[in-house]
Amino acid sequence: MSGKADPLEIAKEQVAPVKEEIEEDPFEIALKQLNKAAKVLNLDEQALEILSSPQKILQVSIPVKMDDGKVRVFTGFRVRHNIARGPAKGGIRYHPQETLSTVKALSMWMTWKCAIADIPYGGAKGGIICDPSTLSQGELERLSRGYIRAIADFIGPEVDVPAPDVNTNPQIMAWMMDEYENIVRHSAANVITGKPLEVGGSLGRFDSTGKGGMFVLREGAKKIGLDLSKARVAVQGFGNVGQFAVKFVQEMFGAKVVAVSDIKGGIYSENGFKFDDLLAWSKKIGSVVGFPGSKPITNEELLESDVDVLIPAAIEEQITEKNADKIKAKIILELANGPTTPEADEILYKKGKLVLPDVLSNSGGVIVSYFEWVQNNYGEYWTTEEVYDKLDQKITKAARQVLDTMDKYHVDPRTAAYVIAVKKVADAMKVRGWY
Ligand code: GLU
Repeated sequence: MSGKADPLEIAKEQVAPVKEEIEEDPFEIALKQLNKAAKVLNLDEQALEILSSPQKILQVSIPVKMDDGKVRVFTGFRVRHNIARGPAKGGIRYHPQETLSTVKALSMWMTWKCAIADIPYGGAKGGIICDPSTLSQGELERLSRGYIRAIADFIGPEVDVPAPDVNTNPQIMAWMMDEYENIVRHSAANVITGKPLEVGGSLGRFDSTGKGGMFVLREGAKKIGLDLSKARVAVQGFGNVGQFAVKFVQEMFGAKVVAVSDIKGGIYSENGFKFDDLLAWSKKIGSVVGFPGSKPITNEELLESDVDVLIPAAIEEQITEKNADKIKAKIILELANGPTTPEADEILYKKGKLVLPDVLSNSGGVIVSYFEWVQNNYGEYWTTEEVYDKLDQKITKAARQVLDTMDKYHVDPRTAAYVIAVKKVADAMKVRGWY
């Protein structure tokens, strides 16, 4: 499935469970992480103040004509955290419990992610409060086009470049690009990434988050001397990120995936799951639950299962102070955004667990988005092998830098990643004369 995704398939960037358990304000978490790194860096107070707030916040109302003829008004956001290193970049999420605070936090995480990956972008994020599973294709299209009409002045190929995220997909990106082009009245494939191949998408973008995560896992395993060919793995989420994590961890390293979950529940098998069988089952049934020969497990049991590698690939705040102490995995590869709270981070660090942080581990998505944007700008397209090769080079360099910085400052890997990112962004702000 390298890149040739069916754009019409509602293949989600990440599976989005219901967020009943969110306890801490996401933007407060983002600020805590920033402050921790700022202390290690001895960051200039003015720089910290600038970085502590997003540069721009836009809230919009989107009236959508529903299939029954009535109009429903949806609320959407686009937040631009920082553009010191280049145009803002970040996905658009559709979620019934979307909040401005979540979008603000995610926009800040994008700033750090792009800086660590060393791609010339700042950070942004967008979101619409909606439950896409209750919308028809027509309603989804009208909502997506309406959102672009509402934010058209706020985005642009050199200003702010959206992409898919939770519950959005290449088809939605195609509608959005088309709507944007209708407004500006010229071609603008480079206004959005994660597009279908037919309209300027990049080979290798579809599975890039999972693929990139594997290169980071390889470096993390080397660091702690874990033989991945003998490793047992649990993956939370079976969407467009989790699915590829299950696939690649077997294909690339020969690891055994013993636990998998999706929005409907989790499954366990001592013998491990074969990706193709699991995918076929989940396509047929609409969930991994009930896979023949598997034992049902809860989300908590999956997170606490006896594995070497735990891969949260769903949504934020899954590992908290409540369960961090019970995590058995040696490596936690964060393919979701924000799955671990700061309190849980401390507990895991003290227990000697290696948490490979989201801003590094899931940066494969935005790195290949950058490659897509470059290809759009040049009008020249690369092979899947070229994309993977360039992704490997970029993300491996970033992973090594994070692991080295961790040793240099004696800090946890997330703080190490932040130290690198915050310094890069602060330096860019400094030369621009912002402080
Ligand atoms: N939504 C992805 C992320 O959180 C990709 C963003 C992008 O490609 O701009 O990193």
